[in-house]
Amino acid sequence: MKTFEYNALPSRVVFGVDTLTAVAAEIQRLQGTRALIVSTPGRSEFAERVRELSGISATEVFAGATMHTPIEVTKKAIRVAKRHRADCLVAIGGGSTTGLSKAIALRTGLPQIAIPTTYAGSEMTPILGQTENEIKTTLNDPRVLPDVVIYDVRLTLSLPPAASGTSGINAIAHGVEALYARNKNPLTSLMAEKGIEKLADALPIISEDPQNLDARSEALFGAWLCSSCLASVGMALHHKLCHTLGGSFGLPHAETHTAVLPHAVAYNAESAPHAMRSITRSLKSDSAAHGLFELGCSVKSTMALRDLGLDETDLDRAAELACQEPYWNPRPINRAGIRRLLHGAWNGEAPSN
Ligand code: NAD
Repeated sequence: MKTFEYNALPSRVVFGVDTLTAVAAEIQRLQGTRALIVSTPGRSEFAERVRELSGISATEVFAGATMHTPIEVTKKAIRVAKRHRADCLVAIGGGSTTGLSKAIALRTGLPQIAIPTTYAGSEMTPILGQTENEIKTTLNDPRVLPDVVIYDVRLTLSLPPAASGTSGINAIAHGVEALYARNKNPLTSLMAEKGIEKLADALPIISEDPQNLDARSEALFGAWLCSSCLASVGMALHHKLCHTLGGSFGLPHAETHTAVLPHAVAYNAESAPHAMRSITRSLKSDSAAHGLFELGCSVKSTMALRDLGLDETDLDRAAELACQEPYWNPRPINRAGIRRLLHGAWNGEAPSN
């Protein structure tokens, strides 16, 4: 076995069905007495359930989380936290909600409990993306890592089938890129292969039967495994492309990951044969790129960036931006190749290999 380094991150995880009831004990463990509960406007009923179960009377809800963590929203939430004299944060929702909680924690030092309700995976990472003056920047800082994560499978049952499929493939993308990361290691590779397998098995079942608790459990466990990989090793071309398409063209996060991933994998296939073998094993397919394309189709997601609002005339600029300050990638980035890759994803065609 080759020499490797692995950085474990300190976080406590409670996983199961109906584990939301553990929130009172977890607030107590953090010695919290005054909680600010964070959610998106659409999920305020989740925040109210946390309030009921919190075991403390001093709770305040801030149901204003939005995509891309705009700094104005963070400032507003911090004002509410200060007025309430909050001593802990509880974030219940997807990556947008977790992002807001991280942004508050960074500036206030408050301890956080994250309760994810999608498969996005932000809860396990020390990474925060935030937007100021329409520019999105990303930082990596241990102060934003949630102290406790409560995974309650039941909270994912309400995630619509289409959103479940794309959110799950967003999670798979973390595992895929971990398998060919420059700083990959045997631990993250184990987690990635298992995480991809669990999600790939569960997502088509969820697409047909969104209330299937067993499939939901497997998917959430897979998402946790893949997000642990995202937390530990560097991401590559696929993430650079999705950050470019989301940041500069406003494309939706999970849907973009789903359409781009097969093409990014096809681009890297010859340069990362070991990773491709792991992915094909996980997908039970002959080809990593085709297996991912078929998985996207099987969860009835669009595989065409043009359906997500990208114009054909944007492709040149997207390729140019994606080649600027590229992330490390197993295959060198060449602009003509990236333009071809993007055109394939724009058209929604099956990848070339
Ligand atoms: P999201 O949090 O924006 O949620 C999408 C929508 O789904 C929202 O309207 C939300 O209210 C709704 N929703 C969430 N859970 C639901 C449920 N169980 N039932 C019904 N509706 C539900 O989307 P997301 O895909 O979870 O997160 C995307 C964001 O997270 C992006 O901004 C991305 O950059 C960020 N992210 C960050 C990291 C990180 O490590 N920093 C990792 C992954 C994603």
